[in-house]
Amino acid sequence: MPTEIEAKRLEVISDMLPHIGMNKDAIEADFLKYLCHTLGRQLTSEDYYLFKALSYATRDRLMTHWKRTWAAYNHNGKLKKAYYLSMEFLIGRSLTNNLLNLGIESATEKAIYDLGLDFEEIEHTERDAGLGNGGLGRLAACFMDSCATLKLPVMGYGLRYEYGMFRQIIQNGYQVEQPDHWLGFGPHPWEIQRAEYTQVVKFGGESREYIDPVSGNLIAHWEHADVVLAIPYDVPIPGFKNETVNTLRLWWAMAKEGFDLSEFNAGSYHEAVAKKSEAENITKVLYPNDSSENGKELRLKQQYFLVSASLQDVLTQWTEKYGSDFSDFAEYNAFQLNDTHPSLAVVELMRLLVDKERMGWDEAWRITTQTMAYTNHTLLPEALEKWPRELFQKLLPRPLDIIYEINRRFLTEVAMKWPADTERQRRMSIVDENDNICMAYLAIVGSHSVNGVAELHSNLLKEGLFNDFYQLWPEKFNNKTNGVTQRRWLAGCNPDMRALLKEHIGENWITHLEDLQQIEPLAEDAMFRKRWHEVKQKNKKRLADLVLEETGVNLPLESMFDVQVKRIHEYKRQLLNVLHVIHLYSRIKRGQIDNWTNRAVLFGGKAAPGYAMAKLIIKLINNVADVVNRDPDVGDKLKVAFFPNYRVSAMEVICPGTDLSEQISTAGKEASGTGNMKFMMNGALTIGTLDGANVEILETVGEENFFLFGLKTPEVEELRRYYNPQIFIDQSNDLQAVMGLLESGHFNQFEPGIFDPIIRSMKSSQDPWMTLADFQSYISVQEQAAHAYQDRESWVRKSIVNTARSGIFSTDRTMQQYNDEIWGLTPIDTGSVDIAC
Ligand SMILES: *Cc1c(COP(=O)(O)O)cnc(C)c1O
Repeated sequence: MPTEIEAKRLEVISDMLPHIGMNKDAIEADFLKYLCHTLGRQLTSEDYYLFKALSYATRDRLMTHWKRTWAAYNHNGKLKKAYYLSMEFLIGRSLTNNLLNLGIESATEKAIYDLGLDFEEIEHTERDAGLGNGGLGRLAACFMDSCATLKLPVMGYGLRYEYGMFRQIIQNGYQVEQPDHWLGFGPHPWEIQRAEYTQVVKFGGESREYIDPVSGNLIAHWEHADVVLAIPYDVPIPGFKNETVNTLRLWWAMAKEGFDLSEFNAGSYHEAVAKKSEAENITKVLYPNDSSENGKELRLKQQYFLVSASLQDVLTQWTEKYGSDFSDFAEYNAFQLNDTHPSLAVVELMRLLVDKERMGWDEAWRITTQTMAYTNHTLLPEALEKWPRELFQKLLPRPLDIIYEINRRFLTEVAMKWPADTERQRRMSIVDENDNICMAYLAIVGSHSVNGVAELHSNLLKEGLFNDFYQLWPEKFNNKTNGVTQRRWLAGCNPDMRALLKEHIGENWITHLEDLQQIEPLAEDAMFRKRWHEVKQKNKKRLADLVLEETGVNLPLESMFDVQVKRIHEYKRQLLNVLHVIHLYSRIKRGQIDNWTNRAVLFGGKAAPGYAMAKLIIKLINNVADVVNRDPDVGDKLKVAFFPNYRVSAMEVICPGTDLSEQISTAGKEASGTGNMKFMMNGALTIGTLDGANVEILETVGEENFFLFGLKTPEVEELRRYYNPQIFIDQSNDLQAVMGLLESGHFNQFEPGIFDPIIRSMKSSQDPWMTLADFQSYISVQEQAAHAYQDRESWVRKSIVNTARSGIFSTDRTMQQYNDEIWGLTPIDTGSVDIAC
């Protein structure tokens, strides 16, 4: 029973709050209030303060829905919830997206305009929240947006890195990394600290077993551990105009006490302070490695910190409501693991259920495997996480015990299925022969669902990497092809296309992307094609202006904008693209310019700071760009630029302004790709290999609307056995000319030999990416693309078809499938729930 005072407080419900208007005048008044009264600034202050004031005014408009959504999920009877565990959420900017989803962009723009301010300038002062590397982190952000739009009770759990993805600058053609202190000064406008939900995470110490004096059972204690506090910061995730605001909860590490007093008293002042900073280092910085493991102790700490804090948070909320009755826990909770990074969740849930809740092993294992689901994101062996047993022993002694017990029971099951097949038991063991813990195997064993992220990738998992596990548990394996959210990647980033679409088919596509189909017949309407082309040219102008500002290179608007932006990685084969650029340059120099199509080739992407080859590829692109752009024989025929610091907000300008999207990875290496989908949605045509989701894009648009080239996955694997790149050089005059230019040092005249490692790797029979094998096919299809671009009417038709058929690449579809086939959540209407203020 509430006390009298509590009862009184509960009567103060949200209806009694001052009404927050969604119209222009109300937004303007709040903006001015925050700017002048809260921040103590004025309209002439720097854009940064204007941005902050506008963000607070916007956040106010999310708050009631946010509280209502929370109440609907947590105080409104028992309902199933899902938790998306990810080490990365590559959010980018939030202001425009939140205004869009609230449906108040035009009112806000008008309010800002009426005050004599420039909305775009304010919008552009927001720093990207770069809490991720690339595709995997951006996918998590798109998923969050779609779940909120589908009204699904899904919560994201991640880390609040103080330093996000590094800022890339280019000096003398080389990548230089600078720290990204994205939070800036003062409180960050989109997050709310919720110290009341703080959790405690253990590291170190040792694991001891006892006989429980009451039950007589063997129980384990994790003793003498160091503890770190996990403080949650909540970020609102609004659905599109549906009054749902989901939560992304990011953990921040803080030392338990400022000082360890015993050490302080013993005179170890320095050691006490050092321990504090060691704890707080856990969430200091995002590891900038994409698709490759890092193996650092601090990274393992980050992973355990995320899963321990998140699972304790979920279990605390459960026990507060249902006490220690976990009998139906698995029916009401689902955890999705974004790659193996959070796969310790399997172990941590076992630990909490067995050690803390005193549950029997079998029951705890049933609950764990019924709630956990694992998404694999790569087939590259260098990305498969393995942690040495000694590291576990030192940092996570009790979880290590649990892993050994999981493995012991698992290998017994393998032995039952394949008696005497010791080779298979060795292959499948979670702990390998070198005493490394294989996180992918742990994730598969501990989950009821294992999915890949495109059809091809999911099939390759079953046939290759995880074949033993597929034979044991075929029912666990499934596919969920990735997507992107059309709110950010079409409605938000391409306002002119949005306006054109609105005129013809309305705006239902913003939540039902299949509706874009309705514009396909308009591809036959010359007037519509003209409008479509005008929109593209306007977007190219916007992109060209940005490229000029960032690089000093002028991209002619009539040229074909040919773009490859993504992490720099050998498997993505930026090198193949560079070879094509050199080929075009060589043709120009030789005067082979009949029927020429002018081209502007744009590259962008970050290399992991420790990945020497990727960094050298950046240098090569910049050197080739220099030679090409300075050569008067070349002129407008060919321009090349490297866009520095590629990030979400850059992609929002790049993908609407692209004609040709480069998706040219070695077949079988790109799990899905999502950049390919953003370009397609914005009317770019793809030149690509049969890899990842390109396969599904091709199936959707048809061969006549896609430039397909290169070896297929089985051909790559076949050729690998006797690969001899020299044969491809000998067979092609074009390739000889290109290699001749490269090897002569034409692009590094005063830096002799710097590109030798690149030349050597391409000419090696061991080149895993087999760049030279696809050269001839690539340049001939590039030439087809160039000719196709000259027929404007036909090109625009293809462009329209690409956008019109991009419907299935919405994360709304992806999330619907996760929900239908893995989670089983009921969408929740949050509108009418009463909340206490
Ligand atoms: C979409 C996106 C990616 C993924 O691109 P891929 O071409 O699929 O590798 C990476 N980084 C950023 C900033 C993105 O927006």
